[in-house]
Amino acid sequence: MLQFNFYIFRYKKYVYLPKALKPRIMAFRTSSKGRIPIKLIIGAGIILFALFKYWSNTDTNEWTGRKQHITLDAEQEIAIGLRSAPQMAQQHGGLYPDQQLQDKIDQIGRKLVNNSVARNTPYKYDFHLLRDPNTINAFALPGGQVFITYGLLKRLENEDQLAGILGHEIGHVVGRHSAERIAKQDLTQGIISGILVGSDGSAGAAQTAQMIGNLVNMKYGRDDELESDELGVRFMIDAGYQPEELIGVMKILKQAAGGQRVPEFQSTHPDPENRMEKIKEAIKKYRK
Ligand SMILES: [Zn+2]
Repeated sequence: MLQFNFYIFRYKKYVYLPKALKPRIMAFRTSSKGRIPIKLIIGAGIILFALFKYWSNTDTNEWTGRKQHITLDAEQEIAIGLRSAPQMAQQHGGLYPDQQLQDKIDQIGRKLVNNSVARNTPYKYDFHLLRDPNTINAFALPGGQVFITYGLLKRLENEDQLAGILGHEIGHVVGRHSAERIAKQDLTQGIISGILVGSDGSAGAAQTAQMIGNLVNMKYGRDDELESDELGVRFMIDAGYQPEELIGVMKILKQAAGGQRVPEFQSTHPDPENRMEKIKEAIKKYRK
């Protein structure tokens, strides 16, 4: 998400054991003395299957050139995004009731898409201005639904900064970050289920499993943000915007956070200072 909380898309919240396995595990619990407990074999099987499914779905993203693991196709991504969009709008007080402002956002978004590789993707881009005046946020759903709150918009100083935010969000779509995260969640869920089935299912084992899952997903969140920053810079340059203004956006975000900063390692969001450095590098790399 863009705190630049940009996109957190919750696909599955809970880890659950396959129901069919539960009674069988109980039955074997007392009869497995002296042999490898059957629950260990089942647990290992669940983990191996999850790993196989994850690694066998490897593809190179043709617009970013990065190898990634994805189990959804573009049509499914678009469908998930369209289905979730009304709910996301509702959570932020609906859409902002100013057509002129909305038109401006559409125009900038279209300019970014039409002048960059985003144009070649199968995604359908829509840009929504949300009414929420207090939340400073922007995010993207898979498949091209992009949102910015009025609370963030009103803090911006110029059109290029808005282009920077929209470019960053388009970057999440083109980078297929939500789809990637869904595949990762499925993998972690498989591993957690395997650990719980293979162990005694105690609270300690559950906690350990959850912790592993959280750490894995956290790191991915940071990488997504940095890749989106880089893509945002690329799209801005392609469309004729000043990419330096994305640094201005970082300063606004930093200020809005009011000096409260969690150490970067523990945060899903990279430190704004770190992001500014990476943005400067990206500008050098892509400016012609
Ligand atoms: Zn982001």
